[in-house]
Amino acid sequence: GFPSSSKLLVVFSLSGGGLVAYSESQSTSATNSTEVEPLKKKKKVVVLGTGWASTSFLKDLDISSYDVQVVSPRNYFAFTPLLPSVTCGTVEARSIVEPVRNIIKKKNGEIHFWEAECTKIDAANKKVFCHSVIDSNLVGKNDFSLDYDYLVVAAGAEVNTFNTPGVKEYCHFLKEVEDAQKIRMSVIDCFEKAILPELTEEERRINLHFVIVGGGPTGVEFAAELHDFVHEDLVKLYPSVKDMVKITVIQSGDHILNTYDSRISTFAEAKFTRDGINVCTGTRVLSVTDKEVNMKIKSTGENVSIPRGMVVWSTGVSTRPVVKDFMDQIGQGNRRVLATDEWLRVKNCEDVYAIGDCATIDQRKVMEDISAIFTAADKDNSGTLSVEEFQDIIDDILMRYPQVELHLRDKHLASVTDLLRDPEGNAKEEVDIEGFKLALSQVDSQMKSLPATAQVAAQQGTYLSSCFNKRELAKLAPEGPRRFKGSGRHDFCPFRYKHFGQFAPLGGEQAAAELPGDWVSVGRSTQWLWYSVYASKQVSWRTRVLVVSDWTRRFIFGRDSSRV
Ligand code: FAD
Repeated sequence: GFPSSSKLLVVFSLSGGGLVAYSESQSTSATNSTEVEPLKKKKKVVVLGTGWASTSFLKDLDISSYDVQVVSPRNYFAFTPLLPSVTCGTVEARSIVEPVRNIIKKKNGEIHFWEAECTKIDAANKKVFCHSVIDSNLVGKNDFSLDYDYLVVAAGAEVNTFNTPGVKEYCHFLKEVEDAQKIRMSVIDCFEKAILPELTEEERRINLHFVIVGGGPTGVEFAAELHDFVHEDLVKLYPSVKDMVKITVIQSGDHILNTYDSRISTFAEAKFTRDGINVCTGTRVLSVTDKEVNMKIKSTGENVSIPRGMVVWSTGVSTRPVVKDFMDQIGQGNRRVLATDEWLRVKNCEDVYAIGDCATIDQRKVMEDISAIFTAADKDNSGTLSVEEFQDIIDDILMRYPQVELHLRDKHLASVTDLLRDPEGNAKEEVDIEGFKLALSQVDSQMKSLPATAQVAAQQGTYLSSCFNKRELAKLAPEGPRRFKGSGRHDFCPFRYKHFGQFAPLGGEQAAAELPGDWVSVGRSTQWLWYSVYASKQVSWRTRVLVVSDWTRRFIFGRDSSRV
């Protein structure tokens, strides 16, 4: 579900060498004696994408000092958490999209938008190459390039098929608005096909077997929507085949929703079982053909095939080709996603920032960094530090690595407190460095990547725009950890993600929610919470009104089953 805290934000790019001045005033002496206007040379910022991360960045960016250009093959922002509702007509596609030009309208200037795809990032020459995706007769004019001072890569990710044979040919995906619209038509098609007069009963059953591969939030939410659509609307319209419908969710892990609290997985599995949704956990799909889904049951090693009607593939995301190519250029070719530091600057690349699903903050080697700081502080090689100096270092480390703070709080607070006191409980004057390193020794292996969610993407966009907006100020009054000084890294506090929880709508007006503070809420009241959060998180009043009126229409008239 959509995190309750996500805000609609924007994208922007920072300087690789830290936060360098983003605008320069240049006095130009006019050749003409009547014109003496100081010209402001604005830094050029190019933003790739119009999704969660980029719109968050752009929305809050002060463009008085930047010349901003946005490149994306989509001239709209899509509220992805409601995509599963579009697949069954609970919400209309137009209700969850907002034209990007509405979002980037600014009072104090203009942001240029180009509907095109970035095909190559040339980091060495600070250029991006683009190709217009509009089907036009502009022969030879579809391609162009843009120079940048700062680049913000927020191009998202693409569907991951894990190179499974037959997936591209025979499966639906649920990533873009067009995917949701295609699914909606296909569901209706399956019913129309199943009632044709010449079909055998077996053929009708196969046509009405909906298989969902992936038991994560998207797959589960789609299964729940489909179940509601079938049982609340379609069974009344296609009564002759109503008992032949089957929905199967295939999940390779041991449980569906396995990134959620286990109480939610258990609740969801029990609800699906009651609803007659078939959940196959511990099962990996090997291939999909025009008639079957072939899979392996992990526990027994047995291969089985199931006849299928429509298949929806929802198993996660992978890197887009343009980002992959960029990663190869900058020596990150062996990584899964683009790595940034905690200031969201792409590693090994000047003036390029990456936010959202296309990037991850590389928090490996935490211990190496921490060890280096202690070694530098221990000038007399005594192996100890004064308590004051130790606290000072800890403050900087905690600011940079919020996970270390969590780790200390959760697991090792006692051992760290011990370091500061002698066996009698009296405060020590000196702290043993090795003892502290030992207390942190598990941190490296426990560092987890942030999830690929709208909540993370939006917070990163907002963070980045705030850094851009106060770049000059931060040079005068740095706010970041003092010990991380390399090329301006201490100008700003590093990005810190705040998790506001997540929802999982489960159908039948029931939802589950994981809330901050280890709270779990399930049932009908949670579904109402879901309605209010999603209505409030809409990017504009226009979409808010449209979404709420779609929900109301559905309550009164049911969903529309026309094949359009
Ligand atoms: P996106 O929002 O995908 O935006 C990427 C942008 O880049 C797009 O505008 C795209 O057109 C553009 N682009 C693509 N290629 C290029 C190129 N070559 N050049 C320039 N631009 C390009 N997250 C939650 O937190 N809660 C939820 O409930 C939730 N539900 C979801 C349901 C579904 C069905 C899906 C698919 C995702 C859901 N997510 C949810 C995840 C969330 O949508 C993503 O994490 C989020 O969209 C990531 O934001 P982004 O800006 O990185 O990428």
